[in-house]
Amino acid sequence: MVSIPTRLEQTRARIAAACSAAHRPPGSVQLLAVSKTFGADAVEQAFAAGQRAFGENYIQEALAKIEALAALRTQLQWHLIGPIQSNKSRPVAENFDWVHSVDRLKIAQRLSDQRPPTLPPLHICLQVNISGEASKSGLMPAELPEVARAVAALPRLVLRGLMAIPEPAQGEAAQRAPHRALHALLDELRATLGDQAPQLDTLSMGMSADLEAAVAEGATIVRVGTAIFGTR
Ligand SMILES: *Cc1c(COP(=O)(O)O)cnc(C)c1O
Repeated sequence: MVSIPTRLEQTRARIAAACSAAHRPPGSVQLLAVSKTFGADAVEQAFAAGQRAFGENYIQEALAKIEALAALRTQLQWHLIGPIQSNKSRPVAENFDWVHSVDRLKIAQRLSDQRPPTLPPLHICLQVNISGEASKSGLMPAELPEVARAVAALPRLVLRGLMAIPEPAQGEAAQRAPHRALHALLDELRATLGDQAPQLDTLSMGMSADLEAAVAEGATIVRVGTAIFGTR
């Protein structure tokens, strides 16, 4: 069993190599360590090895970890990357720094209303159904401009960009296509919204199996679980 610090180092090396191949600066991609299903002890090991940003899918599980690691709270960034039901939005607004999985305006409105005034605004990515699968969550590309304009206007949120979970694909070309499509949607949105969304700079895409393809297509945050913490 390879240790978490070693796997973290290997993942950083993959990102650095992908940045180099894409002629991108090495610091232009943030690593989000996806700690879902792993305990606070695993997060602490990654923290000790320099990792600061952690991604969680399940709200109850995440809240327990955030609580257990309260002593480190100011040094950690917690990102929610899993689905939110509207009756669960309050603890999300109160405990996370980022939410990548906003897929309807109603959730964004609730998060803005419920974000405590003592905290900085919540960073938001809109999740896009980039592979067009009927069963997957995420906004359809055609819905994006209207929802993004409304989210960007909410007072306690900052709209940062787009997130997608493409269908698994084999081979570089097939892996790159959906990431390229998400990048094009972000470019269109920036052109459409202009000053209405001044901080639209984030492409949250790429996981353990396809982070190189995502970095090649402009990812600014890669969300990596298995390659750091092991199989779930
Ligand atoms: C679990 C998960 C990841 C990490 O996936 P790995 O294949 O383990 O790297 C990334 N993003 C989302 C939304 C996830 O649910």
